Amino acid sequence: MIPEIQTRPIAHLASGDTISLQIYRFVGDRPGKKAYLQSNLHGAEVSGNVILHQLVGALCDLDASQLQGEIWIVPSCNPLATNQRSHHFSSGRYNPYTGHDWNRIFWDYEKFAVAHPRDYGIAEFAERYRDAEPEEIVREFRQQIRTAFAGIADRFETPESLPYEERYRYRLQDLCLDADYVIDCHSSTNQAVDYLYCFHDRQPSAQAFLLPYAILMHDYDGDAFDEAFCKPWLALERELAKRDRQIVFDIEAWTLEIGSGMDADADAVYRGLRGIKNYLASKGIIRFPKYPLVRTLSHKVEFFERSQLVEYYAPYGGTLSVQPVLGSVVTAKQRLYQLVSPQENGIRTHDVSARQRGIVFDIARNCSLNEGELVLSVMEYEAGDDASFL
Ligand SMILES: [Zn+2]
Repeated sequence: MIPEIQTRPIAHLASGDTISLQIYRFVGDRPGKKAYLQSNLHGAEVSGNVILHQLVGALCDLDASQLQGEIWIVPSCNPLATNQRSHHFSSGRYNPYTGHDWNRIFWDYEKFAVAHPRDYGIAEFAERYRDAEPEEIVREFRQQIRTAFAGIADRFETPESLPYEERYRYRLQDLCLDADYVIDCHSSTNQAVDYLYCFHDRQPSAQAFLLPYAILMHDYDGDAFDEAFCKPWLALERELAKRDRQIVFDIEAWTLEIGSGMDADADAVYRGLRGIKNYLASKGIIRFPKYPLVRTLSHKVEFFERSQLVEYYAPYGGTLSVQPVLGSVVTAKQRLYQLVSPQENGIRTHDVSARQRGIVFDIARNCSLNEGELVLSVMEYEAGDDASFL
């Protein structure tokens, strides 16, 4: 398959240059679902770029009969953040104009619907379509979202126009509003284990990514990219359920956290690509040779609540001199890390113990730590749950 490659401008700069999104669009020979994949929304998180470039290569090796539907791929979805530097180092997590996290800026239809209940209310929609076929509900709800979203574009042309952040998010969300599956590839800013975020009732699909851990999304505000896409559908499912209509739409959004920041480690790329190919094959949208892998059925994902993740902050400034192995299990009172800390009366070593049993989930990339900076995180769990991790 040869992808259609689109270049969509997102900002005209003072220098006269234009930065753009590059989109790879693969279209199968039969209509079907649409998958949308992006990476590098946070500037320092680059393993997804390599994963998605390799996915483009893998899709090029197939023919159109092996794809049912469409796959859209945007490997570098936030060029402004990707190109941001401080000395050799990428940061790119925050919009330099507003200070906002680039992954907390997105347009959320559910919030829009609350503000405009008469035309866009989700409860009202559920009441109207409670007895309709699922296909009709999906088609009509998607159209309702699309109509609300289109109103933003009109504001581009007003005399006061729109700030960059709102222009950018419109252009990015415009690519995936009609998707069925959305995958947003991230990495930890630090060194971290691989995991994903999982929404309500989507646990069975999470397995296909073949990652060891998942954090369940019970609390969210809708402004992250995956949330903004999925949340209106979850709200609709809830409203239909209140009317005795139980439907879980085959509409899903995933944030994958693969590998470490500023790194494109070959093993992490392998794991990420394998998971994405396996997910797309499990959904039946693509037929890769040997996928879905046989091991998918026996793969076990450990699901955690976000509240189980405990962050440890440096009690003093200093240098991290001893650190645990990433992904290892620590027990209560076991030494977790050591800080070499210059104090008024000389250099002191400071040992910090784990407060409870857990898995070392991430560790600071920078071993030089100011007081109050993140040292590491531990995903805590009860001792009785050990068997499933070891
Ligand atoms: Zn990120």
